[in-house]
Amino acid sequence: MKNIIADRTSKIDASGIRKVFALAASLKNPVNFSIGQPDFDVPDKLKNEAIKAIQAGYNKYSQTAGDEILKGKITEQVRGEFGWENPAVLVSSGVSGGLLLAFLALVNPGDEVIIPDPYFVIYKHVINMLGGKCVFVDGYPDFCLPVDKIADAITDKTKIIILNSPCNPTGVVNTEQEIKELARIAAEKDVLVLTDEIYEKFCYDMDCPSIAGYYEKTLLMRGFSKAYAMTGWRLGYVAASESLKDIIEQMTKIQQYTFVCAPVPFQQAAIAAMDYDVSDFVDIYRQKRDLLYNGLKDKFELIKPGGAFYAFVKAPEGTTATEFVEKAIANNLLIIPGNVFSEKDTHFRISYATSDEKIRQGVDILCSLI
Ligand code: PMP
Repeated sequence: MKNIIADRTSKIDASGIRKVFALAASLKNPVNFSIGQPDFDVPDKLKNEAIKAIQAGYNKYSQTAGDEILKGKITEQVRGEFGWENPAVLVSSGVSGGLLLAFLALVNPGDEVIIPDPYFVIYKHVINMLGGKCVFVDGYPDFCLPVDKIADAITDKTKIIILNSPCNPTGVVNTEQEIKELARIAAEKDVLVLTDEIYEKFCYDMDCPSIAGYYEKTLLMRGFSKAYAMTGWRLGYVAASESLKDIIEQMTKIQQYTFVCAPVPFQQAAIAAMDYDVSDFVDIYRQKRDLLYNGLKDKFELIKPGGAFYAFVKAPEGTTATEFVEKAIANNLLIIPGNVFSEKDTHFRISYATSDEKIRQGVDILCSLI
């Protein structure tokens, strides 16, 4: 069969990450610093809510935009937090689902999307697949929000500025001052901001400020995957002020013909999750962050992560991240090279969402390689 595969698939390059996993397949019981999900399980209370929902018959489609009660809870949350009177809300199949719908609804071929580099992988590949143009703005070496560079990158073709705080892969949390400054610039140029706040609960040193509190034309994405360790339940939400309700309506229309709705029994569990306190988990993860950071800071160049469960560490002088990762894997440690999340190949990502014992082992291996 000739040309069976659509051209757009060639816009996605998953070779970097595939190479790591191929190398990793040969390892027995490695120290795995590559996993992007919490090492705890869904809290029992929330598991029971999902079981109860299945038994009570919540097994059919919901409304496309989500269960009314869940949408009501989300509305209450964002109204309280950002003062949005009549927010538009869509429950999505994870934040990934929300991102796909947003890009499908917004990005025409040739449209530019500004993305601070390093970035979460999905943005680049989906935007490329749609014929959009990713405009990367260099956030090295401190990974603070490069506000001035973002301002310089805005053109007539700019459709969206993407923010991700706390950030995957750097763990950096944007400060209130950076966010306010970006809000001012976005308002001046009248550009939409998409803020991916999937790690908002994992903030260790301060509250995570959201640009949604400072800029009305913000598309807010949050999820249930990370905070409640339910990555397999595929739940997230998109919310925006009334001024962006057309965008949410178009995304809902696309959801109708793609995902149809987010998984229904888990939407019921998400209603309970909205009131579930995860601060104990966050305290444990703060300690893991400290364990990792204190173990590496004297030997490696790294910024202390303020949130999420990642650290983005500079590979030793004279080696690319890819070379260093190969060396680490040969020593039974799994890490991800920075070029999976960046246009550069100078750093590697650590996920410390693992046991303290594994963190100590991983730190020892890394320190032995330098
Ligand atoms: N955004 C970021 C920054 C992420 O790290 C992830 C998960 N790795 C997602 C979105 C997608 O999460 P989910 O689809 O499980 O909600």
